[in-house]
Amino acid sequence: MPLHFDPTLVNDPFDDPGLYVDLVFEWRALLFDLGDLARLAPRKLLRVSDVFVTHRHMDHFAGFDQLLRRLLGWEKILGVYGPTGLIDAVEHKLKAYTWNLIERFDGNLVFLVTEIDEAGCLTSAQFSGRTRFERSEGGTRQSDEGLLLKEPGLQVRTTVIDHGVPMLAFALEERAQINVWRNKVEAMGLAIGPWLRAFKEATLRGAPDDALIDVAWRDQQFEKPAALPLGLLKKEIMKITSGRKIVYVVDCAFTDANVEKILRLAKGADILFIEATFLEADAALAEMRRHLTSRQAGTLARLARVKRLVTLHYSPRYKGHGHQLAQEARDAFLGG
Ligand SMILES: [Zn+2]
Repeated sequence: MPLHFDPTLVNDPFDDPGLYVDLVFEWRALLFDLGDLARLAPRKLLRVSDVFVTHRHMDHFAGFDQLLRRLLGWEKILGVYGPTGLIDAVEHKLKAYTWNLIERFDGNLVFLVTEIDEAGCLTSAQFSGRTRFERSEGGTRQSDEGLLLKEPGLQVRTTVIDHGVPMLAFALEERAQINVWRNKVEAMGLAIGPWLRAFKEATLRGAPDDALIDVAWRDQQFEKPAALPLGLLKKEIMKITSGRKIVYVVDCAFTDANVEKILRLAKGADILFIEATFLEADAALAEMRRHLTSRQAGTLARLARVKRLVTLHYSPRYKGHGHQLAQEARDAFLGG
């Protein structure tokens, strides 16, 4: 069954940033950033299977305690991903509390924490309620170009960008689905069989249209070709449902290196959630604080050719004037 991503901002754009993505058909959700989570209903927090932390400034990480409080007592393994130092940070958070009564809880809560450094190296550790959240080291391995989570239906990729400290931007992608019309296969006189798998694999590989695919016919009475061109088969029997892509970018200096990384990550996204912290009139301030202006956010969205732009993380200095930030970003996105 195809996934259906339902992304919503956790808070108003002037409050702590955060993105909640409900995976509707999987009874689970992904959460990007752990700022103030008070507006997420308990049932929504309970659905969270994986959390992606951009960096550990308080407005992005203070909600860890709220999540811990809500999940405690439930049988659950929570994946937590973030930049270097995350494992120590989670350990410190957990060590701040007294766990002498935790054995009485029915469910065991486990944190599987993975951090990624600027060279793309992944390190993991586990904290289980059964052992009073004692740290247990996992392994270290090289990531496949920033890939943090890879499942049959979706993947989450990151890139490390500069915010004075390493900051992670994330892309959540649904994998494309290749469907074969059985009735059209049969209408062509072809047989349903293992050759369809080779056909799908060749399509996923991006093989050229003139590549020949061995086929099986239902009726061998007349001489028929043993193979047909991939392009013809694609046209006749295949339907591709392209996967959706959602990108989340906050706290980011507008440097050449960051721009290049964000454009690569966000290219063609269905929705780009991106900070628009300052007005362009305050670009000097944005540069000093290593944040984006609205115009820069909109420009990135246009250059990355995203389909939809959603801005967030507005500076409180513009309270009551949020529409100006949104408008400036929109103008840059649409107009150039
Ligand atoms: Zn921030």
